Amino acid sequence: MSGFSRREVMRVGAVGSAMVAGAAVASPLNGPRMLPEELDKDSFAAAVKELRAIVGDDWVFADPESTVSYRKTFIPDTKGNHIPSGAVAPASVEEVQAILKVANKYKLPMWPISTGKNMGYGCATPASSGQMVLDLKRMNRILDFDAELGTILVEPGVTYQDIHDYIEENDLPYWIDVPTVGPIVSMVGNTLERGVGYTPYGDHFFMQCGMEVCLADGTLLKTGMGSIDKGNTWQAFKWGYGPYLDGIFTQSNFGVVTKLGMWLMPKPPVYKPFVVRYPNMEDVAKATDTIRPFRMNNLIPNGVLIMGALYQLAMFEQRANLSDTDGPIPDAIIKAEAEKNGLGMWNVYFALYGTEETIAATEPIIRGAFEASGGEVLTDEEMNGNPWFEHHKTLMRGGMTLEEIGLVRWWGAEGGAVAFAPVAPAKGSETNGQTELAKRIMESYGFDYAPAYAVGGRELHHIIFLMFDHGSEDSSQRAEKCMEEMITEFGARGWAAYRSSVSTMDLVAQQYGEANREVNARLKDALDPNHIIAPGKQGIA
Ligand SMILES: Cc1cc2nc3c(=O)[nH]c(=O)nc-3n(C[C@H](O)[C@H](O)[C@H](O)COP(=O)(O)OP(=O)(O)OC[C@H]3O[C@@H](n4cnc5c(N)ncnc54)[C@H](O)[C@@H]3O)c2cc1C
Repeated sequence: MSGFSRREVMRVGAVGSAMVAGAAVASPLNGPRMLPEELDKDSFAAAVKELRAIVGDDWVFADPESTVSYRKTFIPDTKGNHIPSGAVAPASVEEVQAILKVANKYKLPMWPISTGKNMGYGCATPASSGQMVLDLKRMNRILDFDAELGTILVEPGVTYQDIHDYIEENDLPYWIDVPTVGPIVSMVGNTLERGVGYTPYGDHFFMQCGMEVCLADGTLLKTGMGSIDKGNTWQAFKWGYGPYLDGIFTQSNFGVVTKLGMWLMPKPPVYKPFVVRYPNMEDVAKATDTIRPFRMNNLIPNGVLIMGALYQLAMFEQRANLSDTDGPIPDAIIKAEAEKNGLGMWNVYFALYGTEETIAATEPIIRGAFEASGGEVLTDEEMNGNPWFEHHKTLMRGGMTLEEIGLVRWWGAEGGAVAFAPVAPAKGSETNGQTELAKRIMESYGFDYAPAYAVGGRELHHIIFLMFDHGSEDSSQRAEKCMEEMITEFGARGWAAYRSSVSTMDLVAQQYGEANREVNARLKDALDPNHIIAPGKQGIA
């Protein structure tokens, strides 16, 4: 095999750590620019020169000052394991192809991002230091919008806000489905990470239809129906013919996705959001068992969030305003603060979509089941402008809101948060054990447990934001250890994460077993023999 062997590629990260550990710097942000191990300074400079010839001087960033924004991250990185060597921002597919040619020539690994706002998972930073960020934000065109089919084809740099504005400006009868940080993030990056939103179209990869992928050797692949001569069904039919390939380009490093198709939800005539309040921590089990049948029979059509009180409070409050304790905030304080703000210890958000008649028919059935489980069912009328209700009301209709970003500032302006989302079957019996385990581990490291659960269909995501003080070395180190322990302990009980921050990709990949890793490794060798696309992504060297 020419170029990097798998083991050599892994060393790119290891050497990066050693270099920063050796440097006397308080934060990796101030540390030295990292180079891939295989590249000496001269070769890197030669590669940069060739990249400049492709995209122009203004779009290659290869010095510490101009790469600061690419190094900014909310996750802890005390060893400097995730520092890019630079960034290059192409404006077209042809430029992506030319860049990958240079990357192959110099064995310079490229870490593709769409808008680079993978917050809680590493933002734009790579899985190992030395990789160059391949920033696709300049490729930001909405290429097609079929108003009859409600389908869209976009480039990586298109944000949900762009699509929202396009729909408004053209008065189109559709909603988009957004993650909670929709305005500033991309449909492509979010969907490739298999991200989620909160309308009935919330499973983004499920609603994705057709992609264009640039492989490491420059080959352009259009998946599904995209490669048919004169075809016009690329965004209408997902599966195409033969093996279904789209999946292997999500959460992977097998190619650079340059176009992505998506289905949009027809705007319903009537939309009615609800919250169900539960007073006690252990009620999460009853809530889950009540939601599951309605998700399975689709009487509740959207992914349901079960939001913990502290998660909700952290959206709008900094920790210092709630407590001056060093250790974790006691439940009694959280409960009192929640009650003061019209919140329960758990708050279940769901919505009904349809006509007055269909909603009138299903609401009593759903309401009855929640009430029988001890929940208090409330609507717009009773919540009367409550900011948390308004936030979720906006999300469940695909509206734009950034309020949840408040979570990353829980400990102060520096901002620190890393996400962990283990998956379990959607059964109440799975919940309290998880809550106890997470709370015990997090509190032993001095952190607050700020949870949410989400019931997609038959599965339950436990969304744990580990909020820490990014400005403190001690807090960052505790956050790293805490996250490793959580992933390990949850994994040992069969609760593995569906996604990972760049700092724990390998750890999570181990839990999915050797056969899985080996198949991924073989695919990588076949599609990217020099391992120049995002080595280390999802634990695939
Ligand atoms: C408070 C808070 C709330 C959040 N809520 C949600 C939520 O509700 N739902 C959710 O899903 N996420 C959520 N996130 C996580 C995250 O911010 C979003 O998923 C966001 O959409 C990812 O950022 P992005 O779109 O800029 O993707 P990017 O950062 O551009 O991409 C993410 C990763 O995908 C890969 N990638 C991106 N583009 C390409 C490409 N063109 N080709 C190949 N690989 C590529 C890369 O590995 C990249 O690192 C939340 C984060 C925070 C802090």
